[in-house]
Amino acid sequence: MAFASVERLKTAAEKNPLVVKEAKEKGKKIVGLYCLYSPAEIALAAGAAPMVLCGTRNDSIATAEETLPRNLCPLIKSSYGFAVQGTCPYFSASDIIVADTTCDGKKKMFEYMSEIKPLHLLYLPHGPHLPEARVFWAAEMRRLVERLEKEFGVSIGEDDLAKAIALANRERAALKGLMDLSRQKPAPLSGMTMLELLFKSGFFADKEEIIDMLEEIVAEVSAAPQNGASEGPRVLLTGVPVGMGSHKVVKLIEDAGARVVAFENCTGYKKTLPVATDKPPLEALAERYLATPCSIMSPNTARFDLLDEMIRDFSADAVVDLTWQACHTYNVEAGKVRRFVQDKGLPYLQIETDYSEADTEQLKVRIEAFLEMMH
Ligand code: SF4
Ligand code: SF4
Repeated sequence: MAFASVERLKTAAEKNPLVVKEAKEKGKKIVGLYCLYSPAEIALAAGAAPMVLCGTRNDSIATAEETLPRNLCPLIKSSYGFAVQGTCPYFSASDIIVADTTCDGKKKMFEYMSEIKPLHLLYLPHGPHLPEARVFWAAEMRRLVERLEKEFGVSIGEDDLAKAIALANRERAALKGLMDLSRQKPAPLSGMTMLELLFKSGFFADKEEIIDMLEEIVAEVSAAPQNGASEGPRVLLTGVPVGMGSHKVVKLIEDAGARVVAFENCTGYKKTLPVATDKPPLEALAERYLATPCSIMSPNTARFDLLDEMIRDFSADAVVDLTWQACHTYNVEAGKVRRFVQDKGLPYLQIETDYSEADTEQLKVRIEAFLEMMH
């Protein structure tokens, strides 16, 4: 079923590079972000537009491999390749990049990237349960505030931060509302459509505009009559971030007759955790961002809590765990995810791949066999 509000978002997204360019020409500052640990709220409080940067396509990887090792996660190589080639309009428009010391590959790649653009590196602690980690991370939030104040010649007060938190929380609620549409049986939107919407929603300079569009989709789709058609096995996707260009596995799952109803990864549900509004803003930001359940944390217990909740809420029939080649943290953690999912009595499949099409046929056979087993 086609929805006018879904088409509206897709069409509006096509204009984003131009909108960002025009905003910049009018003096708007742009802050480029790669990772879910970078607080968009601080960029917003500085009066800037936080923009997610490109890193999900294969075509920039060859350029990156002139500097970076071939045996490195495709997400890191793609991001760096876009930056070197100057082919990501959002990177080109960025006044500064905010980066984090998440995994080793990314952390070391950012040293090269800082030769291209001003870059602020946040030192992310990897033990989210330690009280010292929260104190340290709050100090890192403060250091980012000071850097943006200096770069943009502004001052960022508690009120600015509180307003930015409220806006970002509205965006999170809208994204959650969108993803929660797939709790319906059958899910009204395909996983590919959901992924496209989640991905494209990151490239809007104007948060109010994208929040309105997401809310419209939720209103239109939830009011539509439910179709009783059967949808095949309901798959929950966990693991690394995916986007348009790195959507191969989502497409293969759906082409094989299943439906991806939930994205646990940081393209999806991990984004939706709100920031507390009853605490000093920087403390609240530190607490919320440190709670992101990514595999670079140790131990990463929160991922299992989230998986547990999502398997239940989205009535998942199976879990597919996607890891990019050479992503040590997700690849090593996959063993624990397998145990966790199988203990719940659900089928589990781990797929390790990259952005190229080289293994598409092989993956197709594995995915079909996995889904076949469930009949
Ligand atoms: S998977 Fe983890 S390190 Fe990678 S972008 Fe997401 S939050 Fe950041
Ligand atoms: S997918 Fe893994 S290796 Fe790649 S950037 Fe994320 S954590 Fe690092």
